Formats: sequence, structure tokens, C-alpha cells
Amino acid sequence: MDNLFNSKMKLLGFFWSFLLAVLLLVCWFYYRNLKQEISAEAHKNAIQNLELIHGMLQRDADINDQQALQRYLRRIGSRMSFRITYVARGGMVIADSQVPLSSLASLDNHAVRPEIVAAQEQEVGLSTRYSRTSQQELIYVAKAIQPSGGIPPGVLRLAVPWSDFRARFDRYSRTFVWVMLLAFAIIALLSYLLTRQLDKPVNTMIAAMNAIGEGNYGQRLHFQPGHEFYSLAGSINAMADMISRQIHTITGQKQQLEAVFHGMKEGVMVLDAQGKLSGVNRAMAEIIPNVSQSIGRRPLEATMSLELQRACDYVLSPSSDLDSYPYMLQITLHAGENIYDVNIVRLQDPQGGIGAIVVFHDISELKRLEKVRQDFVANVSHELRTPLTSIKGYAETLLAEHEQGPQPLASFLSVILKNTNHMVKMVDDLLQLARLEARSHLEGAAAVNAAEALAAAWKACEPLAQSKQVRLTHSLPAEGLQVTVDFDQLVQVFRNLLENAVRYSPTGEIIEVGYTDDPKKVTFSVRDDGPGIPGQHQHRVFERFYRVEKHRGAQPGSTGLGLSICRHIIQNNGGRIWVKSPVDFQENGTIFYFTLFH
Ligand code: ADP
Repeated sequence: MDNLFNSKMKLLGFFWSFLLAVLLLVCWFYYRNLKQEISAEAHKNAIQNLELIHGMLQRDADINDQQALQRYLRRIGSRMSFRITYVARGGMVIADSQVPLSSLASLDNHAVRPEIVAAQEQEVGLSTRYSRTSQQELIYVAKAIQPSGGIPPGVLRLAVPWSDFRARFDRYSRTFVWVMLLAFAIIALLSYLLTRQLDKPVNTMIAAMNAIGEGNYGQRLHFQPGHEFYSLAGSINAMADMISRQIHTITGQKQQLEAVFHGMKEGVMVLDAQGKLSGVNRAMAEIIPNVSQSIGRRPLEATMSLELQRACDYVLSPSSDLDSYPYMLQITLHAGENIYDVNIVRLQDPQGGIGAIVVFHDISELKRLEKVRQDFVANVSHELRTPLTSIKGYAETLLAEHEQGPQPLASFLSVILKNTNHMVKMVDDLLQLARLEARSHLEGAAAVNAAEALAAAWKACEPLAQSKQVRLTHSLPAEGLQVTVDFDQLVQVFRNLLENAVRYSPTGEIIEVGYTDDPKKVTFSVRDDGPGIPGQHQHRVFERFYRVEKHRGAQPGSTGLGLSICRHIIQNNGGRIWVKSPVDFQENGTIFYFTLFH
């Protein structure tokens, strides 16, 4: 309210100063014009009187010497309030209505008086100045005349006191100034009263706006139609309506989000722009019981996980190039008892990062079940391997003894041996898969020569290749192509891919192994001219036990685990494996690609 008063007074002060300036200007104009007009009138009067006296002088024939002129002037001068002087050419005063004849000779020479000089050049000479003789300001008008008789030609001069006009001028200007002051006072008072009149509705509107600003959205203004602020009040009411509706919608949405937030099974942490905890949901409080006490602190203090803290710092750092993609990691909490998949998403606004959301997804049970499955596979494979080895051994021995013997026995034994071999291979593959799943990252990895691994793998495939007369060509440099991987695992990858390639190649064809090298990684390719893998199977051939033969007739020695082992090895080393079929510009053929780092 004080503010309103101050600004009102400021506005009024400005208005009053402006008004005063305008009134002063008007006064100044009036003063100037009045002065000009009054002095013009005084000059006109003086000139008229001068003409009158001149006329009378001309008409009066008795005035023909100095004494008669002096008498005449004194007579007229005594009746009028002005002084009449006659100055002969040369400047000597011959007659004066206010100076006796005897004193005339003592008067100054008047030749250089401005009005006398001007009268000789123009029709009438004019001058206003202070007279030392009569001690007042006088208007002098003078005219050159040619009297008759013994009076020499000269200048007839009339001096009218300026004070008569001055008094009138002062009276007029004083009255005008008073009128102006009165007008100013009335306008100032009226303007003040008018602004006071506006105080009440303005104050009501300010109070209503303050109430709306403080959250009282039901506040409305009720002005009658025709009121100065009727339409403004209408706009304020409409604005309050709109804000109220928007707030209602936002509150509803907020409640919905809160319900989702707290109803979620996943634990959620909200981080502010400084990476401090600004909120958690109920599920999070179940994961870390005292997490609500860590609000305002860093995730490290709440979870004791350095890994998580580093991930949050990375996501929130301006240099991270995640945009709105989630950063994913796995962490263990509670001394390794619980495993969580954690997704961190940066919250963005046009001005920059404003925090992050951290979502904890409990995968402990999933991991436990996976472990149970892996252990089961590993155990079963392990248990199967010993009896299978002895069956294989006995079958081989028996076959060796009975190869020349009765036919049914030899063929039964070779069927037993073939199936046993198949089962041994499957158990070996399963065991290897279980081992690969158990140890995940880069175990035993070292810089190895890919060409050597390829040679070792080809050696293992050679018997099969020779039986099909399939040859291998490769472009790998003999001096060495370095990749970081466990040597035996790389041999295994090449071997599985080459075995498949040989198995599916038509007899007498060539298998090609190639590579492309770039600064970080090497991409290997294994190509054959076999039947190819139809598009709908391509993304599934890397699954365990998946075989296209189910759909196109079985291949001997196929377990459906080879590519699954390859994928595990390559992914454990940070690489990627994929297939392309048919080969470019052909109707069949398959190329397997995989990448490894230098
Ligand atoms: P398998 O032991 O059966 O070869 P893999 O996992 O190595 O198991 O392969 C999965 C399936 O992918 C195979 O059964 C076969 O159907 C298909 N496949 C793999 N390599 C080739 C290839 N070079 N040409 C055609 N089909 C192939």
C-alpha cells in the first residue's frame, strides 16, 4: 500500500511539475505580450498628444517668439501630466513646460538625445529612459517642426511618465499571476482528489492479485458494469479462472505421477543438478531402509556403491553424450546378496541438465535362477561325460575287434559309436557354454596372432574338409594380425564357423576367410557357398539348440550349440557377431562376421 502511495505521489508530482511549467510559460507569454501592448499603447498616446500640441501650435498665430512659446508650453503642461520641450536645431532648449525661462540656458544641450536624433531622420523619434531632471522613467516622443514667426525650426518633444502605464501593467500582471496560481491550486487539488478516488478499486485489485498469487485461486473481483476498472477486473477474473483450471490439471497429473512413482516395484532415486538425492519412492526405501535420511546427500552415501556414484557423476557431467538415453549398469548391494539392473536417465531442459532419475530393478531372483540353470547344465553334463566316455571306449574297442566280424554287430557298434560321439560333442559343448557363462569378462585375454588361431582351427576341420574336398583361402597376414582374446577361444570360434562352412559347402568348393582392419578393431569374415540361411532364421541361429535343419533336414554332427558358443566368446571380449546371407550378388552362400579389439 505504501508503494502504491509513493508511486501515486510520484505520478502526481510529475503531473504538477508539468502543469506548473505550462502555467509559467503561459505567464511569461502573457507578461511579454501585455508589456508590448501597454508600451505600444503608451507610445501611440504620446504620439497622438504630440500631434495634438503641434496642431495647436500651428493654429495659434500669437506664438511667434520664445517667451510666447514658453508661456504656451507651460500653460498646456500645467494642465497635463507631461512635460513639453522645444529644442532648437543645434540642441539648445528654447522652451520647456517644467523649466522656467530663466533656467533654460543652464539645461544640457539636447542635440544627442536619441529621440531628437531620430526625429530629424524619421517622422517621429521615440525613446524610453530614465530622466535625471524629473527623476523617473519617461517615454519621449519627438517631431521636427517648422514654427512661424521668430521661433527657429527645431524639435517638439513630449515626455510622458512611464509610471502611469507601469502601474496598469503591474496591476494586470499581478491579477493574472493570481488567477494562474488559483488555477494551479484547483487543478492540483482536483487531480489529487481524483487519484484518491481511484485508490479504493486499485487497492481492491492489488489485494485480489496478491491473494491469487498466494494460491487463493477462488478470489474474484466484483465491479459493476460501467466502473472504470470493470473490463480490467473481468480480465483478472478470467486469468484467475485459467490459473485455477491449469493448477487443477497439474495437481491431478502430479498426483497420478506420485501414485505411479510410489506404486512402482522398481526403486527410484531422483537426483538434482548437483547430483544430490532430492527424492526416493517407497520401493527404494525398501531396498535401502534409511535412504530418506540421505536426502540432500550423494548416492554414494546412501548406497555405499562407488560404481553407482561414478555412473551418476558421468551421466550428470556436461561432457557425457547420452542425451536422453539411459546409462545401464549392474550393481550388487547388501554384501553381494542383491543384484540390481540400474538405469540412469538424465533429465533435460532447454537450459541444460537439471538432474537425473536412477531406477533400481531387482534381478537377484533372475540371477539366482540363471545360476541354478547353469549349475544344472554343468552338473548334468559333467555327470553324463564319464559314463559316455566309457561307453565310447567300449564301443570303439568292440568295433575294432569285430570290424571283420558278422555285419549286424559291426553296424550296430558303429551306430552306437556315432551316437555316443554326438552325445560327447553335445556334452562338451554344453560344458563349454556353462563355463563361458560363469566367467564373463575378458578372462585369459591377451594379444594373439589371429593367423595362428585360424591355422589351428583349420587343422581340426581338415579331416572333414578333405572328405568333401573343400579348400580354405585366407588373406590374413602371416607376420601376424594382433587381437586381444584368449587364444583357445579364438581357435574355438574359427573352428565352429569353419566346421559349419565345410559342412554346408557343396563338394569341391572354397571357403574364404577375410578381415578388415581399423585403428580399434578387426572384423573377420568366414564365407562359404552353401545353401545360405533364410532371413527369418538369421537372427535366431545364435540361440542355443537352434537349427535350421529342423526345417530342412538334419546334418550329421550338428548340435545347434556351435554359434551360441561363438556369440558368448565374442561378446565376452566386447565384440559383435552377425550373419549375412545370401552373399552379395548371389542366390546362396553365407558370410559370418565377427569383431575383436586389437
Ligand atoms: P550346429 O552345431 O548345428 O552347426 P550351430 O549353432 O553352429 O549349430 O548352427 C546353428 C544352425 O545355423 C545350424 O544348425 C544351421 O542350420 C545354421 N548354419 C550355421 N552355419 C551355417 C552355414 N555356414 N550355412 C548354412 N547354415 C548354417
